[in-house]
Amino acid sequence: MRCPFCKEDHDKVVDSRSSDSGRVIRRRRQCLNCKRRFTTYEKAGESFKLYVIKKDNSRVPYDREKVIAGLQKACYKRPVSAEQVQQISDRVEEDIFKSYDKEVPSTFIGESVMKNLRAVDKVAYIRFASVYRDFKDAGELIDEVTAMIGQAEVSSQPKLFDA
Ligand SMILES: [Zn+2]
Repeated sequence: MRCPFCKEDHDKVVDSRSSDSGRVIRRRRQCLNCKRRFTTYEKAGESFKLYVIKKDNSRVPYDREKVIAGLQKACYKRPVSAEQVQQISDRVEEDIFKSYDKEVPSTFIGESVMKNLRAVDKVAYIRFASVYRDFKDAGELIDEVTAMIGQAEVSSQPKLFDA
């Protein structure tokens, strides 16, 4: 596999695992030239690197670590385990490979992260969404929060101030 950083075609596989459905195999590789790590995916026996199409239409190699870093930031001090973060990332990748083969729009990844994070922790979801969507419209954020408060148990809310 050609290294996405230095373009050298010399690597070793350092980790290999398949998705839940077993359709996609993820391989963590290390370039023997520049020592940097990258990930390839294998689907139907074909190995390839996944690219992300950014908003300016440029392409960058998909980096699972970036998804995980974003999730960890959103889940800071939330009851979400490292294992759950990995599971959310797996689900995001499942979503990607259901709809895309070798290139995926960055917006699709963001939406998938939000969808899968929301199912696990609502507060982490709000944090991620507020950064990701950049909530240009404050009303949009209020709508999200209002919808969530409607779902939460009001009686479990602590009092803000004690008299
Ligand atoms: Zn390299």
